Amino acid sequence: MSPTDSLRRSAAVAPATVEWRASCLLPTRWAQFEAHVFVEPATGKEHMALALGDVAGGGRLLARVHSECLTGDTLFSQRCDCGAQLETALRRIATAGRGLLLYLRQEGRGIGLMNKIRAYALQDRGADTVEANHALGFADDLRSYDIAAPMLRRFGVTALDLMTNNPRKVEALSALGFDVRRVPLTTGGTAFNAAYLATKASKLGHLLSEESDGGDST
Ligand SMILES: [Zn+2]
Repeated sequence: MSPTDSLRRSAAVAPATVEWRASCLLPTRWAQFEAHVFVEPATGKEHMALALGDVAGGGRLLARVHSECLTGDTLFSQRCDCGAQLETALRRIATAGRGLLLYLRQEGRGIGLMNKIRAYALQDRGADTVEANHALGFADDLRSYDIAAPMLRRFGVTALDLMTNNPRKVEALSALGFDVRRVPLTTGGTAFNAAYLATKASKLGHLLSEESDGGDST
């Protein structure tokens, strides 16, 4: 192996790093969370965590690893189910009295806001969400959950009841060493996102029934 290959190899396996920078209390409609900001030193990208209760103690933790969707999370878009999933996850954590939400800044399944809007424009002309990404030269889904690992470890979390419909997310976090059990997070469709949800199910493997994967994943 040449030195360059060796460097590439070590870069490929280097664990994602993120540094905690600031915390405060964050009252929301559902509970008063502790908000924590983390920064990726390499890129300056900022991520957020909302924690409630004793996240490190008490066994499996109800959690959501949510990727940013500006249009859905904050601008009330009905094209996707992101805002409804975010709200449901926070409400469930508040009801449980304990849990953690990681908010990762990887907009538009990792392609960024501008490209997501370009993909929406293609969808307005008949493409589905996967075809639109491909037409723009992107893969189906560029999200990475590596950055979640150091955030979860900082909170002392090892076992998650993860609210998601995305098996790739469960696989990614399991591969990073976490004990992950999936908790379905279906929120009901709207007139505008039915086709989008159907594509996520048929082409991206999302599980949209309310059935839990059940059992103990150990
Ligand atoms: Zn969205």
